Amino acid sequence: MRALVLLPRKISVNHINHNNQRSITINMLFDSLNIIEPILKALKEEGYTTPTPIQAQSIPIVLQGTDLLGCAQTGTGKTAAFAIPILQLLRATHTNDKKKKVRSLIVTPTRELAIQIGESFNAYGRHTGLTNTVIFGGVNQHSQTNALQRGVDVVIATPGRLLDLMNQGFLHLRDIEIFVLDEADRMLDMGFIHDVKKLIAALPKKRQSLFFSATMPPEIVKLASTILHTPEKVSVTPVSSTVDIIKQQVYFVDKGNKNALLVDVLKNKDIKTALVFTRTKHGADKVVKILIKNNIKAEAIHGNKTQNARQRALTNFKAQTTRVLVATDIAARGIDIDDLEYVINYELSNIAETYVHRIGRTGRAGAKGTALSFCDAIEKEYLRDVEKLIAKKIPVIDNHPFPLMDNNPEKPTQQQGRGNHGHSRPKSPGNAPKKKWYGARR
Ligand code: AMP
Repeated sequence: MRALVLLPRKISVNHINHNNQRSITINMLFDSLNIIEPILKALKEEGYTTPTPIQAQSIPIVLQGTDLLGCAQTGTGKTAAFAIPILQLLRATHTNDKKKKVRSLIVTPTRELAIQIGESFNAYGRHTGLTNTVIFGGVNQHSQTNALQRGVDVVIATPGRLLDLMNQGFLHLRDIEIFVLDEADRMLDMGFIHDVKKLIAALPKKRQSLFFSATMPPEIVKLASTILHTPEKVSVTPVSSTVDIIKQQVYFVDKGNKNALLVDVLKNKDIKTALVFTRTKHGADKVVKILIKNNIKAEAIHGNKTQNARQRALTNFKAQTTRVLVATDIAARGIDIDDLEYVINYELSNIAETYVHRIGRTGRAGAKGTALSFCDAIEKEYLRDVEKLIAKKIPVIDNHPFPLMDNNPEKPTQQQGRGNHGHSRPKSPGNAPKKKWYGARR
């Protein structure tokens, strides 16, 4: 958990109330949000004094029991925006039942996000006596079912394993008072819509629901309308403007020289740690090999790794015993690394939004960040799309030892290429991958 971040004291709150949008600027501290003492104490211990805009907007709405539709991505403080008021509401009606009932359910698309949300509930709720457990697939279910049998107040889960455990009779959702659907757009991208619908059908009709999504395409708005009852809407910086505080630079380089350029860039001792993005799992492993050969400590994180290996790599990276973490997009989305200053796009995605999600791993909650991108001749059109999305030109680093020489490389054939490059989000209007990439596999 980040201990101290540079957050503006004066924050602008865009509270969109039904059809009226109003914008006010306020000075605010957590103390002024009517948060109970045990939670305030935990926030102080975390080093938080000022709520982020999504927190300032959401906490009062959730505390009054209203449904919420939040447009915000990770890195905005979204987790605390729902975790803090949920803990407070549950604590207010705490029972002394021998066995706890599951009273709040958070559903999120990936195990990394689930673990992080669990850590946040532990941190903010440490003086409340409330308990939680995290449920996700890909690991033995034993410790998860044990925790459920002991009884917890909050369950944080990915949809597949949750349904699985429900089908096995380890939990039911009849007592859920507050339900959160987190990262709804990604949930749809990852094909969880049917699971989500099954979960919603199992929830009690009378409940409070919170719905968060980084983007609001029509199918997300439709899904939200089936879950929420007269919600208040809140929104923070749309995806394309969150990148403003991050220093961005691009290197034009031949595909075959990217390894050499990466090693050269990493000679800069100011780069204590860097998160490097590759398009494919295989590519991530190859980059790790090259770095290790050059005495740079590196590990890969992608879908072929076991959950334990991914967690271990992440822990080593956070502890800075591993200097470079090489990740694919799916593995990296949502991972939260304190004080990560450098993101390196070893390859650019053909989905411009992916760029924004990648570089959003740095510069979080107001901290500083640098994003370096390696762009070969074929990727130039992806760079143009990115610049269109973020509405600015990314400065070019000219004086490096591996300048782009081959401006017309042979394009790979369809046989060589499989699937698309970037997020597999063909159904999202506006995000549909129009261009094929070569050999994309994650
Ligand atoms: P999230 O968007 O929930 O993934 O949070 C992004 C990062 O911001 C996490 O590392 C949080 O620990 C941190 N954070 C969230 N809220 C605050 C706050 N009010 N003050 C300082 N850091 C925060």
